[in-house]
Amino acid sequence: MEGWGFSALVQAENTSPILFDTGADSPTLLHNMRGLGILPNGIGTIVISHAHGDHTGGLSGILEVNKDAKIYVPASLWVTIPGRKVITVTSSLQISEQVFSTGELEGIEQSLALKTDKGILVLVGCSHPGVGNIIDAASRFGKVYGIVGGFHGSHDFDRLSGLSLICPCHCTQYKSEIRQLFPQQCVKCGAGLVLEL
Ligand SMILES: [Zn+2]
Ligand SMILES: [Zn+2]
Repeated sequence: MEGWGFSALVQAENTSPILFDTGADSPTLLHNMRGLGILPNGIGTIVISHAHGDHTGGLSGILEVNKDAKIYVPASLWVTIPGRKVITVTSSLQISEQVFSTGELEGIEQSLALKTDKGILVLVGCSHPGVGNIIDAASRFGKVYGIVGGFHGSHDFDRLSGLSLICPCHCTQYKSEIRQLFPQQCVKCGAGLVLEL
């Protein structure tokens, strides 16, 4: 099911899957997980990038079926979930062996830095803090290889040059410009896209 929202699943070695954002609503999230053969119960960690409904909307639905996942939210998302441990993120931190949060940037949003053999892959929700700021924050974990997610209105296209993988999703306003500038690096985003690194 396609809709306006963002959600991605990170499968790193030696860790149970990490769900990054939950889309706009629970039925869409759970439907798409079923379609992709992803078991909601198998998710060990849920990370929310920021407090906008198109990223948090599916959270209640997944928590109904998954009773154990650790939950990481940025400090700007005020949420208490009875009986659940919620980790409030301000500074950068390690989530698993290869997965790090940039910390909450500009008081609104956290992104993930994924350590891969090729370098750091940055996973973003809406990039409200700015793509450049997020890449800078992710760079502390290694050389940034690529970026996937919503870039919002970011038009500092210079910051994307040098990257090997650019996947503008969701709220990215300048998708066609980015595709024109980086035809080799760009990967088209959409529901069900699988990237192997
Ligand atoms: Zn969004
Ligand atoms: Zn947003």
